[in-house]
Amino acid sequence: ARIVGAAAEGDDQAVEAALRPKDLSEFVGQEKVRQQLDLVLKAARQRGATADHVLLSGAPGLGKTTLSMIIAAEMNAPIRITSGPAIQHAGDLAAILSSLQEGEILFLDEIHRMSRPAEEMLYMAMEDFRVDVIVGKGPGATAIPLELPPFTLVGATTRAGLLPPPLRDRFGFTAHMEFYDPSELQRVIHRSAGLLDVEIDPAGAAEIAGRSRGTPRIANRLLRRVRDYAQVKADGTITREIAEAALRVYEVDSRGLDRLDRAVLEALLKLFGGGPVGLSTLAVAVGEERETVEEVAEPFLVREGLLARTPRGRVATPAAWTHLGLVPPQAAGP
Ligand code: ADP
Repeated sequence: ARIVGAAAEGDDQAVEAALRPKDLSEFVGQEKVRQQLDLVLKAARQRGATADHVLLSGAPGLGKTTLSMIIAAEMNAPIRITSGPAIQHAGDLAAILSSLQEGEILFLDEIHRMSRPAEEMLYMAMEDFRVDVIVGKGPGATAIPLELPPFTLVGATTRAGLLPPPLRDRFGFTAHMEFYDPSELQRVIHRSAGLLDVEIDPAGAAEIAGRSRGTPRIANRLLRRVRDYAQVKADGTITREIAEAALRVYEVDSRGLDRLDRAVLEALLKLFGGGPVGLSTLAVAVGEERETVEEVAEPFLVREGLLARTPRGRVATPAAWTHLGLVPPQAAGP
């Protein structure tokens, strides 16, 4: 379990249920998405119709599940939550679709990971509110058409580009969720602190926000760990000093890098002079699998402009040297 990991783990789910904004006005940031969605939902409500299908794309922890629940609340509709990997067979999907109520929201997380046959069934369901259920096998197989009540599909994916165009085209509205800036994360943290009944001052919230990798889920998780520290080691109030001390214990640095991220950067700088160095060599140097370095550590380092992937290998940027408090070789004195 990684304290700065973006996926939900451990006790996240239980706590997140309590921290989820309940309507669009409580949802912090993502102004564009909020404005657009507000229009889509209001218009549908005025027409007394089911809202168009919505595709939400964006990294884990940015609020896709939360938004789908808000859509349901704003439409005053029930919601069913499932995910692409949970739908292995077209039959699994048919069972879900045929049990939906009129106007229900179907949230399909990781929609890009659905099986092919299920995906094809979904095309027809989205467009015509109808599925063909295949009964029997071989030459005797027959397709039984099944009418579905109108519903709203809310699909979520880490990248809209991963979806086959025919699926992407069937969404009436696509929203791209961006990483949050520190001031927005600060608002998320203040809001969560209020709900968790934790005292926090603005500098404390800013300190946590700056280490949260643009991700509300991580902000909420760091807040909980800092709260523990404040409670055990101080009087419970979160200040800048308390946040710094707590996150030092958890090895999350001022930019939100954890031990692994720093180990990768440090090896790149100290052992290989900043690169270029091959991924395999770098992985051996930090004693990790190639995949771990490439998929766990590098994406954030690249996003932060600390590391670049070049055809000749991994290269550290000047910002990486500065961040680790080191001097790049060419700038070093004689
Ligand atoms: P995703 O489905 O994209 O992985 P979630 O919707 O599960 O992300 O959000 C993760 C956590 O972050 C939840 O606890 C949620 O309350 C919080 N969160 C996400 N976006 C926001 C936001 N815009 N405002 C406040 N809290 C948010």
